[in-house]
Amino acid sequence: MENLQSPIVKLKGKLFDEAGVELSIKRDDLLHTFISGNKWRKLRYNLLQAKEEGATRLLTFGGAYSNHIAAVSAAGKEFGFDTIGMIRGEETLPLNPTLDFATKQGMKLGYLSRELYTYKNEPLVLEKLKEKWEDFYLIPEGGANSLGVKGCEEILDSETDDYNFISVASGTGTTAAGILKAAKDYQTVLSFPALKGGEFLETEIEKMADSFSARLWMLTKYHFGGYAKVNEELVNFINEFKQAHQIQLDPIYTGKMLYGLYDMIENNVFPEGSKLLAIHTGGLQGIAGMNERLKNKGLIIN
Ligand SMILES: *Cc1c(COP(=O)(O)O)cnc(C)c1O
Repeated sequence: MENLQSPIVKLKGKLFDEAGVELSIKRDDLLHTFISGNKWRKLRYNLLQAKEEGATRLLTFGGAYSNHIAAVSAAGKEFGFDTIGMIRGEETLPLNPTLDFATKQGMKLGYLSRELYTYKNEPLVLEKLKEKWEDFYLIPEGGANSLGVKGCEEILDSETDDYNFISVASGTGTTAAGILKAAKDYQTVLSFPALKGGEFLETEIEKMADSFSARLWMLTKYHFGGYAKVNEELVNFINEFKQAHQIQLDPIYTGKMLYGLYDMIENNVFPEGSKLLAIHTGGLQGIAGMNERLKNKGLIIN
């Protein structure tokens, strides 16, 4: 497993010239065709650890449209692990594009009721799962463990030293924690929670980062009503962004973050001369499933 490197591209546009700021995107979405963006970073050290422990089977958890489930299934196929995905909620047939993809990579699916899912990390539930699936290496939902944080520290390197602000969309906050840990003391890390009420993530991120000298800034108002909620304004933004910059954003994470950054730049929140770097954490596999759900609203991400 070689080191993961991705290019940085600077965006052009009147918005940036007028505000006197620079906005660049680090294209972690290009790291791998199927093991998308930050999910690859979070899995990398977990896979090495699983190999070291002699594990042949990975088990993890996720929602029915989860980028993490898709990533684990593809990583299992590529690196020779059997994979089990425990999905939140009931089985729905036909499988949505995410779960269809996962099973085609060889992932076996199990389902946990929403109730039981909230207890998924309890020893009793894990014991039951061991009875059913035999021994496995456990990867927590979203790859949210210390090895996941370690992988995300590598998002920053000498090429990112130049930026004052480093921005990332957050679910569990693991990726933001890795970035915060690796950031320099003159840098500010912006975390855009994809869920409503994301204020609680601040302490989570700081806990996971453990020790850090950079500043953390939570931007909690760009959730568009909650996790995986979208409206016409967001869909239009994503489509226009792609037209302007030839970069596809996803509707759950990176689309909301970029929308927020544009809003902040427009409102001159950042001092003139600021250099902003937004991490494109991938997640593009989720667009097909989102478009299926958007059809009845007459919307489409294209
Ligand atoms: C999972 C995911 C995130 C959130 O990452 P966390 O480490 O859980 O905060 C952000 N962006 C994309 C595209 C993702 O798939």
